[in-house]
Amino acid sequence: MAFLLQVYAPLPGRADAFHRCLFLFCCRTPPCCCGLRVFRNQLPRRNDFYSYEPPSEDPPSETGESVYLQLKSGAHLCRVCGCSGPKRCSRCHKAHYCSKEHQSLDWQLGHKQACAQTDNLDSTVPDHNFLFPEFEIVIETEDEIMPEVVERDDESEIIGSMGEAHEEELESMAKLESKEDKIFQKFKTKISLEPEQILRYGRGIAPLWISGKNIPQEKDIPVCPCGAKRLFEFQVMPQLLNYLKADRLGRSVDWGVLAVFTCAESSKR
Ligand SMILES: [Zn+2]
Ligand SMILES: [Zn+2]
Ligand SMILES: [Zn+2]
Repeated sequence: MAFLLQVYAPLPGRADAFHRCLFLFCCRTPPCCCGLRVFRNQLPRRNDFYSYEPPSEDPPSETGESVYLQLKSGAHLCRVCGCSGPKRCSRCHKAHYCSKEHQSLDWQLGHKQACAQTDNLDSTVPDHNFLFPEFEIVIETEDEIMPEVVERDDESEIIGSMGEAHEEELESMAKLESKEDKIFQKFKTKISLEPEQILRYGRGIAPLWISGKNIPQEKDIPVCPCGAKRLFEFQVMPQLLNYLKADRLGRSVDWGVLAVFTCAESSKR
């Protein structure tokens, strides 16, 4: 699975979630398809990793293009995907990987040569064509001044002169179709305000669906292992696919909207 995006989303008023981040990973090669995974990381303000005081507003000094493949804690990261890399190359003992697959990918793409000259291994990470291109997500609030889509009732027109026998059936079909239209119209209207949006965030609000098909019911959303319900938190829009050039190498992910529901309690488990 490849890293898709992360959202920093602290919960105000929750001391144990002063820092809170959600990470989304997706499978790049459907229909295998493990699909999508969401991970949540949260920390209190006083913790072993980040300072208690907010960081300075100045941009960090540029340290060149070096890639960090080892955490302060000493843990190594996979050279291909940046996830935890407990396995290492048995020849140089310096290149770390999450899996055999990523080791062999790196081997084919240059580690075969670099393995012998391990002095500056970290600065010679090739493009493995595995990760998506990197972007920063810019946050804007949506003005709620837009008029709602007017709910019209033109079903009577549609079934005008139909035979008695089918009338009921046709009526329910027409209802279904116009409901589908309304959902898509609402989606289009909202999107037209900000066509470039790739993510909509709002903990506990209603998701903006693209279609009436596969809208989950409350019972379809599994509860958190802690026992609490899950709340809608954000959704990823189809526009993101354009930025990710997700179809390079012929492998492709696709979605209409990805809706992410998280533990209402944001508990430790
Ligand atoms: Zn990896
Ligand atoms: Zn090696
Ligand atoms: Zn929970």
